Amino acid sequence: MSKNVYVFAEQRDGVIQKVAYELIGKARELADALGQEVVAVVLGDGIQAAAAELFKFGADQVIAVDAPVLGEYSTEPYAKAMNAIIKAKEPEIVIYGATAIGRDLAPRVSARVHTGLTADCTKLEIDEETKGLWMTRPAFGGNIMATIVCPNFRPQMATVRPGVMKALEEDASKTGTVEVFDAGVSEADMNIKIREVVKDTKKTVDITEAKILVSGGRGIGGPEGFGMLKELADELGGEIASSRACVDAGWIDRDRQVGQTGKTVRPNLYIAAGISGAIQHAAGMEDSDLIIAINKNNTAPIFEVADVGIVGDCTAIIPKLTEALKKL
Ligand code: FAD
Repeated sequence: MSKNVYVFAEQRDGVIQKVAYELIGKARELADALGQEVVAVVLGDGIQAAAAELFKFGADQVIAVDAPVLGEYSTEPYAKAMNAIIKAKEPEIVIYGATAIGRDLAPRVSARVHTGLTADCTKLEIDEETKGLWMTRPAFGGNIMATIVCPNFRPQMATVRPGVMKALEEDASKTGTVEVFDAGVSEADMNIKIREVVKDTKKTVDITEAKILVSGGRGIGGPEGFGMLKELADELGGEIASSRACVDAGWIDRDRQVGQTGKTVRPNLYIAAGISGAIQHAAGMEDSDLIIAINKNNTAPIFEVADVGIVGDCTAIIPKLTEALKKL
């Protein structure tokens, strides 16, 4: 009998990744709806202490597979370990982050355990009637949101976009004992040899971490428009972000892109300047706490998701806002 909601809690260099906390937050909600438990699974080398922290963020059980071969991510031993856990424990649901690792691992595990996988979900919920998992993701180029179910196979599996789900607040009073699971993985499972790991030293900004984002679209007029946005962002203690149109035009780096093919953000404040608010952009920012949109077209779709709308020329309004803030 399948039971419990499992989260593949990704670690890198022994540090549990933010997406794992987000997934545990969502798993808590799903498990409560089913009257079941949340189980976090951590694979790595010497990761039991880090894994134990997950009790504080909503996990009822934590399983660790601790082996030198799991220190760096590698497909074969990771897939073998997840396969062994799923076969032994028979989870109802397993969710992974739609990260580079999760996107590589989840389909291989789903093939081994003969179940389906819904990739890149933005919404997960339990259907009240059937108690099945409804997995929602953008489809047909982001023009529709498709809800996918997996009625005949278990576990129900999904990868979930980082930044979409909300992590729970830490509760330091929650503790537990990590179950160390022997998945039988060893160096013999490596069908590739990692000779060297070269870290990308380019300074990148993670806009998903920013509390305030000042985001520009084609309406800012050109790459120099980001100078004006940067001044406002600096004044507010935030970062600049962008629509895809500006990224495609080469005005700004791709790591600043918000939206379906960019990043999903939920800052406290999102200022959208000269952004039309196409569905693919809105999908990445509509859950922000406060959205202020500046657009000269009063019928722009961005106003449908905005809390505050300013109809006007952003190249005139943004510098005025910055000046006013400087005087405070
Ligand atoms: P435009 O659509 O050109 O809008 C510019 C806006 O600025 C207009 O509303 C205009 O009224 C306003 N404006 C013009 N001048 C001014 C001014 N001086 N002051 C104030 N307002 C002004 N887009 C994303 O952003 N992120 C994604 O991840 C993404 N993924 C996609 C995936 C797929 C499969 C597809 C098909 C598209 C995707 N897109 C994405 C593209 C998306 O459909 C839009 O084309 C894009 O978001 C438009 O960018 P924009 O709003 O900057 O430009």
